[in-house]
Amino acid sequence: MRTVYVNGEYLPENEAKVSIFDRGFLMADGVYEVTSVLDGKLIDFAGHAKRLERSLNELDMPHPAVLPDLLEVHRELVRLNGIEEGMIYLQITRGAPNDRDFVFPDPKTTTPTVVLFTQNKPGLADSPVAKKGIKVISIEDQRWARRDIKTVQLLFPSMGKMMAKAAGVDDAWMVEDGAVTEGTSNNAYIIKGNTIITRHLGNEILHGITRAAVLRFAKEAQMQVEERSFTIAEAQEADEAFITSASTFVMPVVEVDGVAVGSGAPGPVAARLREIYLEESRKMAV
Ligand code: PMP
Repeated sequence: MRTVYVNGEYLPENEAKVSIFDRGFLMADGVYEVTSVLDGKLIDFAGHAKRLERSLNELDMPHPAVLPDLLEVHRELVRLNGIEEGMIYLQITRGAPNDRDFVFPDPKTTTPTVVLFTQNKPGLADSPVAKKGIKVISIEDQRWARRDIKTVQLLFPSMGKMMAKAAGVDDAWMVEDGAVTEGTSNNAYIIKGNTIITRHLGNEILHGITRAAVLRFAKEAQMQVEERSFTIAEAQEADEAFITSASTFVMPVVEVDGVAVGSGAPGPVAARLREIYLEESRKMAV
C-alpha cells in the first residue's frame, strides 16, 4: 500500500481523507503538477514548482504553508514508497469551507488542501511504446480558455482520451480555429527537415515544462525551432511528429487521423531528442 501525503501528514492511502466540501471536489477549484522520477530523483522539479506558483497566483489561491518545503515532501514520498521510476502527483485546492458557495472562502479561515501521491512505473524511461510511436486523431478543442493554468478540470481531456480509444488510437490532438493546440495531456510538435514546429505559448495551451527543456536542448543541438501554430494537414505531410510531457518525455507520433507521418515509424530526430532529453534531465535531477 502506498504512503501518501495529505495536509502535513504521511498516511497509508486508505486512511487519507479530504472533506466533501473541498472546492477541488465541488468546483474543480484546484491546481496540480506531475513530476517524473528517474533513478529515484526528481526531473525538472524547479520548473514544476515555478509553474505551480504561477497557477496559484493566476487563480488568486492562497499559498499553502508547505509551499517552500515541497521539494522535501516530494523526496520523502519517493523514499517512503521506494520509487526508482515513476511520477509524483501533487494537487492543491482552495480548501474546504463548511458549505458550498460560488464565492471564494476567506483564506483566514479556509486553508488550501494539499495532497501528494506517488505512481510507481518501472520501465518508464525505457518505454516500448517510444520504439513504435503512438497514433492520434484530431478532435475539436472544447476546453475553457485558460489552458495555461494547470487546473484539475480535466473532464474534456479525459473525454478526448475516450474518443481516441473508441477510434482505436492512443491519443487526440485538439484543434481550434483550424490549428492544433496540444494533445489531451501533452504538447504537440511536427518536424520538417531540421526544423521543429510547435505552437507558440499563450492562454491556449499549457506551458509544458518538458516543452521548455526540449526546445532548449534542440537549439543547443543546432536544430531550428519555430514556435507557431500548425494544422492537421501540415502534420500529415511532416517528416516526423511527436509529443512531450513529464511522464512520456519525448514520444514519437506515427499517425494522424489515419495518415502515416513520414515513414509511419518513429523518426531519427524524435528519437535523438528523446535520448538527449533523458540524458540531460537525469544529469540535472534532484
Ligand atoms: N499540455 C497539457 C494539456 C497537459 O496536461 C500536459 C501535462 N500535464 C502538458 C501539456 C505537458 O506538460 P509537462 O511537460 O509540464 O508535463
